[in-house]
Amino acid sequence: MRRLSKVNYEEVGLKVGLEIHQQLDTKAKMFCNCPTKLSLGEPSKTVIRRLRPTQSELGQVDPAALFEFQRGRMVLYEIDNETSCLVEIDEEPPHELNREAIEASLLVSLLIRSTPVDEVHVMRKIVIDGSNTTGFQRTCIVAQGGSIDVDRATIPINQICLEEDAARKTGEEGLAVRYRLDRLGIPLVEVTTAPVIFSPSQAQEVALAIGRILRATRRVKRGLGTIRQDLNISLKEGALVEIKGVQKLELISVVVENEINRQLSLIRIRKELVSRGLVEDDLKKEFHDVTDLFKESSSRVIKEALKKNGVVLATRLPRFSGLLKTELEPGLRLGTEMSDRARFWGGVGGIFHTDELPAYGISEREVEELRSKLACRENDAVVIVADEHRNCRDALEAVVERSKEALRGVPDETRAANDDGTTRYMRPRPGAARMYPETDIPPIRVSQNWIEEVKAKLPPMPDVLIRQLMEEYKINKKLADQLVTSDYLEVFMVIMKSTSLAASFVATILTESIKNLEREGVQVESLSDRQLVETFQLVSQGVTAKESVQEVLIWLSKNPQSNPGEAIAELGLKMLSRKELEPMIQRKIEDNLSWIKEQGERAEGRLMGLVMGEVRGKADSKLVAEILREKLAGVLGSTKSTV
Ligand SMILES: [Zn+2]
Repeated sequence: MRRLSKVNYEEVGLKVGLEIHQQLDTKAKMFCNCPTKLSLGEPSKTVIRRLRPTQSELGQVDPAALFEFQRGRMVLYEIDNETSCLVEIDEEPPHELNREAIEASLLVSLLIRSTPVDEVHVMRKIVIDGSNTTGFQRTCIVAQGGSIDVDRATIPINQICLEEDAARKTGEEGLAVRYRLDRLGIPLVEVTTAPVIFSPSQAQEVALAIGRILRATRRVKRGLGTIRQDLNISLKEGALVEIKGVQKLELISVVVENEINRQLSLIRIRKELVSRGLVEDDLKKEFHDVTDLFKESSSRVIKEALKKNGVVLATRLPRFSGLLKTELEPGLRLGTEMSDRARFWGGVGGIFHTDELPAYGISEREVEELRSKLACRENDAVVIVADEHRNCRDALEAVVERSKEALRGVPDETRAANDDGTTRYMRPRPGAARMYPETDIPPIRVSQNWIEEVKAKLPPMPDVLIRQLMEEYKINKKLADQLVTSDYLEVFMVIMKSTSLAASFVATILTESIKNLEREGVQVESLSDRQLVETFQLVSQGVTAKESVQEVLIWLSKNPQSNPGEAIAELGLKMLSRKELEPMIQRKIEDNLSWIKEQGERAEGRLMGLVMGEVRGKADSKLVAEILREKLAGVLGSTKSTV
């Protein structure tokens, strides 16, 4: 099937809503005194937990989580004393809600014209994937309503919440998942827009605008993973699909575009199935043991499954022939979606389907025998899976379920964003109302006085800030704009206060150069504020040259525990001091004394060239010129006096 080259978003009824989660840069976590930073290095200990939600909780849990729980999901928590305490492992009750975090979210709320609540109540949201040791995430509404202006449109805001971040997933082996507790409890502010965004580029602009406002508060963390976007995307004839965890703002329009194409392709597949005369009753959960057909197969996957006493099960998907290979978004076909489901519900490695066979070591003869054994007609497809019997059954059940959904159109589901802007199946969309009150934590009153206090600290909005930066630092609009959008405005201001460097030089490094380094694969997010500030201070003090900054930053990104002084020493980028330059310049003059005396004051230019040729990048040219002039005056002066 052909992909539409240009989609009319209004015609297809596109609606997008955003949920932006941003980590706050508070001193302590939301419910304890642990610092809000991630651990480097190996964990000091690991504990194993089996999830045991209570009966009343299970009633509200989404079917996918329940299924995982019943399968015996095991969770390993990696603990460091430096970044977690007994609260994170749920062995001590949570402390009072962190007021610094509430204040930061009030700042955000007031900037987007949202109305703060009178009392902040902590609620529990059930999450049993193990990412919270308690089995729920704590969240509270801080403000409701509000709006932001983006490009002549006014986008309404639904609410502002304060939430605790979940533990950080570090691995998965079979039924065991690994989480690091350092991230658990870091406060997040969540901004939710109404679903009134009508194009991929508008979605990105709104996200950028919210991101800029969040940064304008200067109370948020920076770097990859500190801001995460969830998108709700729906089409008129499609479904509401939730996409989780887009980490880069620049990817949002791509994600929306891909999801539109995916839904449109699924709608076309539905129409095709209907026109082929398929009805839901034709799709039966009938599974055939076809192990015998593949006894001699050269397929590696099948051979391995049979070696472990596994089986090969097959199911017929009537009238699906040719549709499983339909591409929905780059690299993702309807067959991939079925495979994702089979993996999720059956724990198998994947599936084979006849649209892609013969291949993967499965021969044409095997395919023919398979089709004839299942009494296939011309336009039927067959899906096979090789694993333990029970896993095969679960996997094929999920495949038939997905094929029924294909006949209905686009399934409601939660998908996860991949790094390239495509998405993958995560779980069915959980129902609403999965919250209930947290009884361990008293509510916090938001008095009018407190709001007035926060109002007095309100930072300027991004456009005002840009004008202020242009005026105060004499930089152009483009640079000021980039600074406000970047993660480094705060760092820029600290550098400007503590050095005598030109603002445009500092701003260019912090925006354009850092972006370029990131594009080249340098881990710029591991650079700390302190490393950045110290690097510029050393340039300002003449310890290293301006030209060395990028090299120093690259080295520091690979050595996050080191300081810029060490980087400069390690890279040999130290500038020569006056004390080191003086004897060197003295020697140069003495070596060339004859022509210097001939040329008199005109000798300065040529000498400067000679000296700089030797010390370029290692000495400040102003300092060299200064010393040179002094020494030359001495020599020429003495010449004059002897005449
Ligand atoms: Zn703690």
